[in-house]
Order: sequence, then structure tokens, then C-alpha cells
Amino acid sequence: MDDWKTRTKLIHSGIRRSQYGEVAEAIFMTQGFVYDSAEQAEARFQKAGPDEFIYARYGNPTVRMFEDRIAALEGAEDAFATASGMAAVNGALTSMLKAGDHVVSSRALFGSCLYILEDVLSRFGVDVTFVDGTDLSAWKNAIRKDTKAVFFETMSNPTLEIVDLRAVAKLARRVGATVIVDNVFATPVFSRALEQGADVVVYSATKHIDGQGRALGGVVLGTKDFIRGTVEPYLKHTGGSMSPFTAWIMLKGLETLDLRVRAQASAAQAMAEALQWDARLERVIYPGLEQHPQHGLAMEMLERPGTMLALDIKGGRDAAFRFLNALKILVISNNLGDAKSIVTHPATTTHQRLPDEQKAALGITPGLVRISLGIEDPEDLIADVKQALDAV
Ligand SMILES: *Cc1c(COP(=O)(O)O)cnc(C)c1O
Repeated sequence: MDDWKTRTKLIHSGIRRSQYGEVAEAIFMTQGFVYDSAEQAEARFQKAGPDEFIYARYGNPTVRMFEDRIAALEGAEDAFATASGMAAVNGALTSMLKAGDHVVSSRALFGSCLYILEDVLSRFGVDVTFVDGTDLSAWKNAIRKDTKAVFFETMSNPTLEIVDLRAVAKLARRVGATVIVDNVFATPVFSRALEQGADVVVYSATKHIDGQGRALGGVVLGTKDFIRGTVEPYLKHTGGSMSPFTAWIMLKGLETLDLRVRAQASAAQAMAEALQWDARLERVIYPGLEQHPQHGLAMEMLERPGTMLALDIKGGRDAAFRFLNALKILVISNNLGDAKSIVTHPATTTHQRLPDEQKAALGITPGLVRISLGIEDPEDLIADVKQALDAV
């Protein structure tokens, strides 16, 4: 099973069939489990075996199928599935940190991740140093002998900057710091984060893994020791576990994940190439374009440079709004990784909360729009974007 290729793993890994031999994964829609005897209950509370369950917050057969399948894809020893991507980020960080610990994080983070690192951790006495994630000397200066963890998004939102995972992991390893990465934009299909030096990989399964806009979910992946010894006790007791129904949706999402993200990445590359010299744009940001400042690093780190792109439209916020309102196929929303192509105006939505100078520092200009490519016909998508640019 370890030598299965990705698409085979995504269909067959982790399957647990009941006595009925069902083809599609069963949804074990139960919060608890009945024991044959008092002795069996006692024994299971002492130590539950791999196919023994106690309570759905601790584990459930459908959830375990999802955990085993995504762990097989990622090449991780184990995984813990969570109610949302944020439960996964919070679980990975909070389960291993305590007052007095030091963390280094990149500043370009998803808004809720920034809230955990900037507001929550500091309230509990964790000292967090923020750096420009693309600047290796900044990481070098910020990582100390007593640094406990480093955290970053391997590809940042919304400006698609790449952090050199191998180099940062090397710096972290020297002081024994745990490398935790939020790998949503890189996707589990295109990234080999664990091989490149990450200790812990976190996904919002809400994005490409579901990929059809139905459910919130997340997952933390790492060594068996870290997942079962550190993450699971924290998450199962604080309530961040995934529901069985969500796990079933995510299992079905995994079956088509590879096909979808490859189609999405092809559409992103085609759209970026079709627009890169368009005079109505300040810039087209896509790591697969040679003009992207980190094109070389992106191609080294990732099999394909992702399913997202960003356009900086000349004329600022008014032009960006006219563009969004003129689109006929792409929908205005803030999800990503969906089968439907989605457009977002970060400055007024996902990053609205940030002060103007921070937006500027992160490259979130008034004209910036973020596009998540779906699986529609790329020609239709490019035509839609072009006609919307005409309307600007
Ligand atoms: C969406 C997202 C999250 C949070 O995931 P939810 O499932 O919405 O809780 C975290 N990090 C990144 C990079 C994201 O895109």
C-alpha cells in the first residue's frame, strides 16, 4: 500500500468495510459505542485498540478512514481530523505550547491564523516574533536557541509568496524547533512538505479536500507520537473533533482531489499566461509565470504552482469592484479550492480588519483581486475574466 501512487491511495487507503461489504464508505453516524461487558468497557478505557472506539469526540470509524487516507497521501505516520481548518491550526499550536515559549511566524497569514498567533497565544504568555516569510535572514535572526516552533503558510494568501520550506526547516532543526506549516495553498497533491522538512502539516479540508463547498473541516498530520501523544489529547478534550458526516464528505472529496487540483492548476496557468501582458493590469501574480519573483523556488518546491492567482487591476478599488460585478461565471465569495471558480477582493473582505499600512506591506492593494480556479472549461473562464476587464 505504501508504494501505491497518489490516485490509488485517494480511492482505497484507509478503507474499513463493515460486515456488509459496502462499496462506498459507511457513515457511522453515532456518538458512542456499546460494549459487550463491563470488563470490555474498562479495558477499552485503559487502552483502545486500532479498531476500538469509545466516543466520537475521541474517534469514529468514518473519521478514522479519513485520517488514514489523508495520512497515506501526505506520507505522514498519523493524522487527527478536526471540525474546521482553524481547529487544526489552533490544535497544532496550542497543544504543544505553554507560557514562556517562543514562536517565530511569517506575517503574511490567513486572518484567523494571525488572530491565534497575535492575540490568543500572547494572552497565554507565548512570545511570538513575526517575520517576512520570504526573507531567510529575517528567519535566521528571529530563531533563537529556545525557539519552540516556527509557523508559516508555505504559499501565502492572497499574494502567493512562497516560503523556502527546506531552508527555514534547516534553521529550525538546529535549535530543535518544531516546523508547523499551513499547506492549504500548496495542496496535498503538489506539495511534499514532510519530505522537505516540515514536522507538522495542517490543512483546512474546507478548501480543495472537500472542493465542492459543502462542509468545514481540517486535519493535522505528523508523527504518531505528536498526533496521538500531543494533538489528540488536546483536541479530543477541548472539542475540536471532526463529525462522522463531515469525514464522509471529505473521503468522497479525496477520491477526486488529484483530478480536480490538476485541472484547476492547468486553468490557473492558462489564465495567468492569457493575462500576463494585459495593459489593464498592474500585475498578474501566479508562481507558474517566469515573471513571478519566486518562480524558480516555486517550481523546485511544488510539483505544480497551485490553483490560485491574483490580479492587480489598474484603477484601484472602483475598478476592482466593476470587474467583480461584471463577471458572469466566476462567483464572488471567499472560499477557495472549489469546483466553482471564485473571486475575492481581499482589501475589503478577508483582510478588511488590517490597518492600511499592514495591507500595503503585504501587497494587498485596492486593485488586487484573488481568483480561485474551478474545474469549469478554462476557455470560458478566461473569456469571462476578459469581458469583465472590458467592463472596467
Ligand atoms: C481557510 C483557511 C484556513 C481556515 O480553515 P477553515 O476550514 O475555514 O477553518 C486556515 N488557513 C488557510 C491558509 C486557509 O485558507
